[in-house]
Amino acid sequence: MARNQQPDDRGIYDLVVVGGGPAGLTAALTAAGAGRSVCIVDKTPRGQVMFSGPTGLFSKALRDAAKKVRVRTLRDMGLRDTSIWKQVQDMTVDIMNDSGHKNVLAVEASRLPYYRGRATLLPSDASGQSTLVVVEDPHGDHGDPEIAGSAQGARRMSVFKVKGRKLVIATGSRPYKLPHVPYNGKTIHDSDSIRNLGFLPRDMVIVGSGIIAIEFAKIFCMLECHVTLVVRSASFVGALGRIGVDKAIAFALQRDLMKSGVKILFDAEVDEVQEQDDNSSLHLKIKRSSNKKLLCTIDTNILMTATGREPNSKNLGLETAKVRMDKNGCILVSGDLETNVQGVYAAGDVVGLPSLASTGIEQAQTAVQRMFKLDDVAERTWMRAEPRAPKDPASLMRSPLEYPIGIWTLPEIGYIGRTKERALADGWSSVGEAVARYDQTIRGRVQGLDTGLLKLVFSKPDGVILGVSATKSCLASSRETLGRQTLRGSGREGREGER
Ligand SMILES: Cc1cc2nc3c(=O)[nH]c(=O)nc-3n(C[C@H](O)[C@H](O)[C@H](O)COP(=O)(O)OP(=O)(O)OC[C@H]3O[C@@H](n4cnc5c(N)ncnc54)[C@H](O)[C@@H]3O)c2cc1C
Repeated sequence: MARNQQPDDRGIYDLVVVGGGPAGLTAALTAAGAGRSVCIVDKTPRGQVMFSGPTGLFSKALRDAAKKVRVRTLRDMGLRDTSIWKQVQDMTVDIMNDSGHKNVLAVEASRLPYYRGRATLLPSDASGQSTLVVVEDPHGDHGDPEIAGSAQGARRMSVFKVKGRKLVIATGSRPYKLPHVPYNGKTIHDSDSIRNLGFLPRDMVIVGSGIIAIEFAKIFCMLECHVTLVVRSASFVGALGRIGVDKAIAFALQRDLMKSGVKILFDAEVDEVQEQDDNSSLHLKIKRSSNKKLLCTIDTNILMTATGREPNSKNLGLETAKVRMDKNGCILVSGDLETNVQGVYAAGDVVGLPSLASTGIEQAQTAVQRMFKLDDVAERTWMRAEPRAPKDPASLMRSPLEYPIGIWTLPEIGYIGRTKERALADGWSSVGEAVARYDQTIRGRVQGLDTGLLKLVFSKPDGVILGVSATKSCLASSRETLGRQTLRGSGREGREGER
């Protein structure tokens, strides 16, 4: 085992992975598990546990903390907001560290070397057999092979090189920033900088209607914050539909937020942000998206934007290494996840939509499987229609049966396959839906819970299931209605379809 984790006598690893999020970790562990020599580089800042920061992990950790800390009760007990927020922050960091430690253990169990540092690509060596990655770690001391001082000499910079016959780039994404918003990292945040929020806000405005905006809206609502969601379109269906979420599920999330007290302004955008003299509050002008007229003004503690993400492909040396990107900076890949440079692969958010953990993992696994011609590593773990199917973003978006998706909103949602609209667009002529609602079950009625939903989409003539979507709270009790509803749905509608 240990033998596999050394580079060969020319110092070349079978695989170098840049980025230790879900995609990079999966690539490294899959290759190591298949006996290849691998090393992984991630620029996790010093002081933070390695592999504890996939882009979306902070919100999950905050969510779990928010579920446990009862802010109202603690306030009633006389605790100050500063103490409550400290508690929430500590719990969040603990959850993230815990996840990081588990990942570090997995990496160490596979005996693969991992480095903390920022990686940059150099062109392939003269033989074209390997790709060189330079790793810079401002405070590190990897000892060997090259140590360079900083220009001022005051800061030690450890610079060293690693070489791989194959390379996976999995550097993820960062938030898209609205050009007219003066982000200050204190009261005005994007969906990454929010993790540094220094106080428990009483009021918050969130811009966006995708999973990130919805997740944070519910989390801060649970923390007794008055949340206003500013949404450019007329509903959530557009943003969620782009990543394959069923309309009914999108509406269920919308209803749940409203019921929880989140105020949603549709057809709206933030026009102007004024920081007040007290440095702790903001005055926002909100305009109608459709006619650009003033809709309202809002005074709030915090503004957070969650209006999409862009790939982390800048300053990576991609131009020098001649790796091609599209106009948005997404690395262009083949169906096997290989870039135009032979031996250089990319996976996860850095290649573009759907930018989800599940799809990044799927891509990383596929990349390793195909670069080393490992026949069934990925097949063992995922249900899929076509094992050799292409996994580049465009193909994934065309083939929803290729990957299951889990979204950690509250309530959580999971789905695989097609929605009814998508099935019709893809050529099915007669499509039915069978729906089981939690509020129709006895337990749902007793508990007064109404967000649970399980939906099957099926081809009417033959009853073949084309897609399944569910919100989490329905799963426990859905069996009692699912069988009944599904049979009724496919039976009756199947006959209609045959006429
Ligand atoms: C708030 C939020 C909620 C989300 N919720 C969900 C959800 O519910 N379900 C879901 O499926 N997805 C969700 N996502 C998306 C999910 O987090 C991402 O799709 C996933 O993390 C992408 O994985 P990745 O490995 O491609 O990139 P990342 O997780 O971003 O990891 C990239 C890694 O690369 C490292 N890196 C970057 N540049 C360099 C460099 N030059 N050198 C060395 N290392 C580098 C970074 O340090 C980072 O660790 C959410 C995202 C956000 C922001």
